[in-house]
Amino acid sequence: MPRPVVIANWKMHTNAADAHILAMTVRNAVCSMEGVDIVLCPPMIWLSEVASVLGKGRISLGAQNMFYEPEGAYTGEVSPSMIKDLASHVIIGHSERREHFGETDFDVNEKVIAALKTGLIPIICVGERKKSLKYPEEPVNQLKQSLLHVPVKYLKNIIVAYEPVWAIGTGLEAPPEYAAKVITELRAIVRTETPILYGGSVNSKNTANFVARPEIDGLLVGGASLRSAEFIKICQIWQQGKSFKAK
Ligand code: PEP
Repeated sequence: MPRPVVIANWKMHTNAADAHILAMTVRNAVCSMEGVDIVLCPPMIWLSEVASVLGKGRISLGAQNMFYEPEGAYTGEVSPSMIKDLASHVIIGHSERREHFGETDFDVNEKVIAALKTGLIPIICVGERKKSLKYPEEPVNQLKQSLLHVPVKYLKNIIVAYEPVWAIGTGLEAPPEYAAKVITELRAIVRTETPILYGGSVNSKNTANFVARPEIDGLLVGGASLRSAEFIKICQIWQQGKSFKAK
């Protein structure tokens, strides 16, 4: 069984003080929570701030993006090794990057390879843009493309997040059985121990519906992760329903 994981994506929210307080509040609440891996992904500019709050505790730190080149004249970009100095995870191919910054499957594949080479855990986001009867096709193709030239042995070092684009930030979460069906298709591409998460309008009220599905190993939480009490509750529900130790 893959390890349960709950990831917070703060997107482009928080200032330095907010980031500090949010990280500290979550850290204090989950410090003794076992059996679920928790990852905070603040804006790039607050990685250092949040790293100092988290220290070597039980919460991991992730970036929301990175460039695939190791260094060079790429103004405004951040390399994998720069992130590795502070964080262990990196979100790759989030639909907002694909939509607003033209990120392609090629870019995503290059970034996944660069992350793995650097020892970062890529959190690979895939998801269909529109709800459709052929819905597994788009995320399945995205995942296959993102894993081109990735040796099978590395599949244990990745996390996949199935995030239907129509469910992100809309308040319209995917029905859990719908998410489970896509995740079953994605599972065939990766290894049994690769965590596959669901993301899209998750909150503390609908978390229990997702935890009940054996196909879903965790959650990628956007908007709700900016409210500490809400995010802590989501982690608690996941831990109670799917703790690694409890199984
Ligand atoms: C996300 O940012 O990946 C996400 C799922 O956002 P939200 O939870 O706000 O839909």
